[in-house]
Amino acid sequence: MNIVITGGAGFIGSNLTRTLSEHPEIAEIRVIDNLSTGSKENIAGLDVHFFEGDIQDAALLDQAFRGADAIVHLAALPSVPRSVKDPLASHHANATGTLQVLEAARRAGNLHVIAASSSSVYGANPHLPKHESLTTAPMSPYAVTKLATEAYLGAYHHSYGLPVLPFRFFNVYGPGQRADHPYAAVIPRWISAVLAGQPVTVHGDGTQTRDFTYVGTVCRVLTDAILRRVVEPRPVNLAFGSRISLLDLIPAIESAVGLRALTDRAATRVGDVPHSQADGTRLRALFPSVDPVRIHEGISATVDWFGGSIAPVAPSPRHSPCVTSMVIEETRSCRPLVKAFQE
Ligand code: NAD
Repeated sequence: MNIVITGGAGFIGSNLTRTLSEHPEIAEIRVIDNLSTGSKENIAGLDVHFFEGDIQDAALLDQAFRGADAIVHLAALPSVPRSVKDPLASHHANATGTLQVLEAARRAGNLHVIAASSSSVYGANPHLPKHESLTTAPMSPYAVTKLATEAYLGAYHHSYGLPVLPFRFFNVYGPGQRADHPYAAVIPRWISAVLAGQPVTVHGDGTQTRDFTYVGTVCRVLTDAILRRVVEPRPVNLAFGSRISLLDLIPAIESAVGLRALTDRAATRVGDVPHSQADGTRLRALFPSVDPVRIHEGISATVDWFGGSIAPVAPSPRHSPCVTSMVIEETRSCRPLVKAFQE
């Protein structure tokens, strides 16, 4: 099979490239990426055909899609705050970009299109767990672009018979997710902060909950979807219904790193949803063999990746790792400094 991954030089895309390259059924992997948030380093050493460019470039899409069997469409500007700052840029990349991908898939001859939507489409709907039939209520321009993504996939299925599969990803984390940019996600930001002896910043009161999904689990589902050519025009939650508050995430990171966290408070971020937890019934029915990686295991693997990828600084006396944090009342003793700090 020949597979195209848009956004393949990004966090999830590069993990998927690595996973697919281990499958003998996959003959060729083509990556289209404009490197706006991704990087060539993420796919260095992997056997991929790299098309550097934008998904708005129809000629580039036609070239990359020729002779392909499936497209995994991940290219997008993936941040809520970024979309609040520049809604038009998010719309062009995410909504118009998806339309371009679907048009190219149609021109190429009914390619299987799997795409990333987001749990953010549930937005202000307070019902838990989030079942796909709930009313969507986007709270940010980003969420609207993801609603457009999944809606366009459904429309292309019904209008043109395109075989599609829109997934709603829920807070994906794991190795390869960068912490060093202003729109970084919470797990890499906090692991990086704890390793560096810096405070972790909690937006709001920290009671917000998230259904974090390990990137390896996401890649397993995507691979299974490609290999079995799973088609479902209705959106499918890609998460398994576990839920953890941000305050509870801190001890999980502390225990994986072996250091205490210092904490800072900041205002609730505009567009942030208070709670998120997937109903995984539709996912489990379509992918019965996929067993999710548990959060503690996933965080450990992520911390290991950070230990090998950043040069941690020694904690300053002011941010000594054993200083009791302002927010978390810790009773456990501070474990010996581990991993990176020992080196
Ligand atoms: P990422 O930023 O690491 O990857 C996105 C990739 O797309 C980058 O390599 C970027 O350079 C590329 N890209 C962006 N705009 C492009 C364009 N116009 N043309 C070509 N390439 C372009 O983000 P990620 O976390 O890997 O997210 C992948 C997908 O999953 C996105 O669609 C995102 O919206 C969705 N998603 C992610 C999460 C998550 O928790 N990471 C949650 C929900 C949905």
